[in-house]
Amino acid sequence: MDQIRIDNLCVFAHHGVFDFETRQGQNFYVNAVLYTDLHKAGTSDNLQDSTNYGEVCEFINEFMTTNTYQLIETAAEQMAKAILLQFPLVEGITLEIKKPSAPINLPFESVSVRIERSWHDGYLSFGSNMGEREKYIREGLKKLEEHDSCKLLECSKLLWTKPYGGVEQDDFLNGACRIKTLLTPQELLSLLHEIEQEAGRERKIHWGPRTLDLDILFYDDRILESQDLTIPHPDMGNRLFVLEPMNEIAPFKHHPVTGLTIRQMLEKLKHRQDRKLAGDK
Ligand code: ADP
Ligand code: MG
Repeated sequence: MDQIRIDNLCVFAHHGVFDFETRQGQNFYVNAVLYTDLHKAGTSDNLQDSTNYGEVCEFINEFMTTNTYQLIETAAEQMAKAILLQFPLVEGITLEIKKPSAPINLPFESVSVRIERSWHDGYLSFGSNMGEREKYIREGLKKLEEHDSCKLLECSKLLWTKPYGGVEQDDFLNGACRIKTLLTPQELLSLLHEIEQEAGRERKIHWGPRTLDLDILFYDDRILESQDLTIPHPDMGNRLFVLEPMNEIAPFKHHPVTGLTIRQMLEKLKHRQDRKLAGDK
């Protein structure tokens, strides 16, 4: 990806573990690499199509001087997030904070931390089959949208479906959405659980009735398997109520493991179900 680079921006600030550091202050040097598509600006010669590096420098200076952290790790983490939220064309950032006057009684040039952070592409599915289903879904999505590290980009229509998984229960209202997030997969799962909880969800029966179910279908093209999180969602290929809404918003999205598009997965599932129906007759 194209880059805008800021090298060794000098900022006098007050970060440090020791009292004298937060009292007296010292020079920090900031290196930033902003990952952003520069083709449009390169073609139009218009600053509106790019990110103003002067504004980014001012922003870094302001951020570093108005906040005080013990650790440059924290300064970097918080500042990377703030920059990604402030400058919409910046998709990712490598941020380095150097501390050449760090309190070390040995000859050295500088110590530093360097982190890489970026927006991630996520697809979620949601469903409800208790009470005011649409209200639970709308409120859940609103909470997601209001979270400062998530942006809701696109949402499918809501779809009525029959329950799945063999438990006798009411019909579901389902859908899928595309988000942009700064959260890690695990943080995103925790947020979804929080929102489910706020909708009054109780986990009594697996696949049982629920006020709100929020699942992660994809997180970039990441393949991840842990105790409580599997991405891509392992059961999506068997679920019409996931593939139908996904087909509306992302028919050509590829499954990172099988390589199939959502549209192909949907066709395959429908074909399988048709054959099963024919076999049952
Ligand atoms: P389901 O979503 O299959 O109907 P639950 O909502 O009760 O069932 O989820 C059970 C557990 O599945 C969650 O507690 C969560 O830790 C785990 N899980 C694994 N992978 C995912 C995923 N991709 N998205 C959401 N939950 C997941
Ligand atoms: Mg779930």
